[in-house]
Amino acid sequence: MISRKVYIYNTLSRRKEEFIPVHPGMVGLYVCGPTVYGEPHLGHARPAVTYDVLVRFFRYLGYKVRYVRNITDVGHLEHDADEGDDKIAKKARLESLEPMEVVQTYTIAYHDAMRRLNTLPPSIEPRASGHIIEQIELIKRILDAGFAYESNGSVYFDVPAYNKKYRYGILSGRNIDDMMANTRSLDGTGDKRSPYDFALWKKASPQHIMKWPSPWSEGFPGWHLECSAMSEKYLGEEFDIHGGGMDLQFPHHECELAQNTASRGQGGVKYWMHNNLLTVNGQKMGKSLGNFTTLADLYKVYSPMTIRFFILQAHYRGTLDFSSEALSAAEKGLKRVLQAAKDSKTLSHSGSGANPEIEKLTESVMDALCDDLNTPVALARIFDAVKFVNQAKDGSLRLSDKDFETLAELFDRIVPDVLGLVDEVQASSEEKTVEGLMDMILEVRREAKSRKDFATSDKIRDRLNSLGITIKDTKEGTEWSI
Ligand code: ZN
Repeated sequence: MISRKVYIYNTLSRRKEEFIPVHPGMVGLYVCGPTVYGEPHLGHARPAVTYDVLVRFFRYLGYKVRYVRNITDVGHLEHDADEGDDKIAKKARLESLEPMEVVQTYTIAYHDAMRRLNTLPPSIEPRASGHIIEQIELIKRILDAGFAYESNGSVYFDVPAYNKKYRYGILSGRNIDDMMANTRSLDGTGDKRSPYDFALWKKASPQHIMKWPSPWSEGFPGWHLECSAMSEKYLGEEFDIHGGGMDLQFPHHECELAQNTASRGQGGVKYWMHNNLLTVNGQKMGKSLGNFTTLADLYKVYSPMTIRFFILQAHYRGTLDFSSEALSAAEKGLKRVLQAAKDSKTLSHSGSGANPEIEKLTESVMDALCDDLNTPVALARIFDAVKFVNQAKDGSLRLSDKDFETLAELFDRIVPDVLGLVDEVQASSEEKTVEGLMDMILEVRREAKSRKDFATSDKIRDRLNSLGITIKDTKEGTEWSI
């Protein structure tokens, strides 16, 4: 039996609530995953690490967790749901690729970047393009319930009609009546009856590549629809937790909630969780600001584990500002924890009884994590444990068998298994082989250069280039990237 009470801040009720699962002992978690049209970047790291710790913590407590995280590979248009190019189709056109080549490339890149952050893979990772039938069925149900209409081959969610029966805006705290009262013209735009309506199905233009047949037109589903369809399919009509970044609250999750309610008479989600966003040197992260840091670039400077530690130092609902100073501090903090974990295994058991200060540490860490996943407080208590290990190391404190038991629970279970902090994620054997070969090749090139055999060193560089490997000579040595 799971005896601990976990409290989660529910965006819907705007307060912390005791977590009571729909099915005893089980957690159904749905998290909005990436739209795979570009290199994974820093913005992907925070939700991935946050929900990874949530999953790990529930499993540690003894829950069976079904963690569903989707891949958006269709229908995410440039301007939210309804307008502009499909992000993936646009990338495909720019790079003369098939859209599914774009999806495959960036899904692999995303998986690799997340694996290095030591995030566990989801239990199910459904793709939007693999669930077109489910999405069409869902549209039919919303149409039958009277909360959608067809217009020129597209289908739109009827927000004013929905708002008459239910309330639209409850998740993001918007009042649609006020919004409508403040809008001069309530005339729809294009095929929409009201400017608040959003697309469930979009008729495709002739040049649009990713399209499917439907009762209404050859087209594609609206972006918000996939998460309603796939969460219901894999977690049921009512499930426990829906997570995502704060930027998804509106319109994405608000629309999801409306779609769920319109089709099945209930919102379907017990707890809505939202992680705050990352800022870079105090500014919101985004491509337009030029602070769009890819994880691949970042990993060259800071280890993925440092980034993970840095993320856990802030509460997931709090702001987190990325700067090189903060990252350097995180690097040092992580080192201290991992060193203490190693030291705790080599210290002598010379004390007796149990040190009450040490004994209560595990309990305090558990309390912090049960309190809406308060990782910064949990880490502060782990640093207390680090302090005790260091005191034992310099001989000013004697540790007993009982103390070592507590420290082992902290350093061998909670730090690696719940917080996911480990020395470094093991590279795959293939990566190790490539790294070994590159070391060897660059050494041969260095030797050629040192005896002024530039023909050989240039030939090595050119051959590597033709394999897609670029090398750069710096003061510290030669850097390479694929
Ligand atoms: Zn979603």
